[in-house]
Amino acid sequence: MQLLEYQAKKLLKRAGAPVPVGRVIGIHESPGKVTFPIVVKSQVPVGGRGKLGGIKIAKNNQQLRQAIADVNRATIKGYLPSCLLLEQAVDIRRELYLSLQVNRDDRQVEWIASENGGVEVESHSESVCVISCKDVSAHEKLAKALSVPTKMLSPLLAQLEHCFYDNDLLLLEINPLVLTNGTTLVCADAKVIADDNSRFRHADFDWPNVEQIKPLGGTIGVIANGAGMAMSTMDAIYASGAKPANFLDIGGGTGEDVFVKNLRFINGLSGVTCVIVNIFAGITHCDDIARGIIAAKQQIPNLVPLFIRLEGTNRDEASELLLDAGVSLEPSLASCVIKARKVAK
Ligand code: GDP
Ligand code: MN
Repeated sequence: MQLLEYQAKKLLKRAGAPVPVGRVIGIHESPGKVTFPIVVKSQVPVGGRGKLGGIKIAKNNQQLRQAIADVNRATIKGYLPSCLLLEQAVDIRRELYLSLQVNRDDRQVEWIASENGGVEVESHSESVCVISCKDVSAHEKLAKALSVPTKMLSPLLAQLEHCFYDNDLLLLEINPLVLTNGTTLVCADAKVIADDNSRFRHADFDWPNVEQIKPLGGTIGVIANGAGMAMSTMDAIYASGAKPANFLDIGGGTGEDVFVKNLRFINGLSGVTCVIVNIFAGITHCDDIARGIIAAKQQIPNLVPLFIRLEGTNRDEASELLLDAGVSLEPSLASCVIKARKVAK
């Protein structure tokens, strides 16, 4: 699972690696007293924010207010920020690329480094250098590849290795690793993919809680149980000429809270006009989903219309609960799609 930048930087800080001074604020929270210049960074689980308006630098309070408003509004690959990271801007002399990752084919962990870090790193493949962590002269080779003195780089490499192994990471990517005017190195951005199988060993992690939702940019939201069910729901939406707003397999045994949390997230995706709930309950109980739907109607402001198909365990109880709450069920997925299509237009 990919962590948000601020969560990744917490791990870096814990390992002693240099990160900019920063603080997380909610999207509606006031920034309070800050030191300028400051960078406002959208916290979304995808990269490329710089190019898409998710990173803004402010030099005074007026610019800061504007930057926060702009970053809050910017949709990054289908995501709106769940919170913002405010960081004291670093002075950039050079932007480098450095990452550690598991190479499954070669059964080893390796470093990848490039002198040309920053937003355009993909276009500099010729300068990318891959070095096995087992290589006894890895530190010297990396220093050479990045054109920085080994003495300056080596402590950081040790900190990154600690961060990587102590937290069971699959990827730790620093892009850019910034060489500042003061000739020190700072991890200005961090992308971390943690191993889901090691979750039990890191109960203290801030695990993101809506990781299974994949935004797709369309207008009809989808909540289904089972990946096959989610995919066939998406197929039916595509076949009708519309586009799904997301992929979500909400899983078996879904209770009221999980349902509400996921629906809240989908309702907040930009462009969503309605949501199809397609549940064929086995382990899941339809009455739990029904309670989730009723709770969502009370708790989620500006909730879009829901078109609901429920079958399986406790379907009749669910149907009664929903009838009492004035919510009707659709007889089939096809009728959900027809109604959703009308709203989406
Ligand atoms: P990404 O686009 O999602 O990878 O976000 P980054 O955090 O990597 O920021 C993108 C770009 O914004 C960086 O490559 C920098 O050029 C610029 N940037 C980010 N933080 C700072 C900063 O503190 N100071 C300055 N001057 N530029 C920054
Ligand atoms: Mn970056």
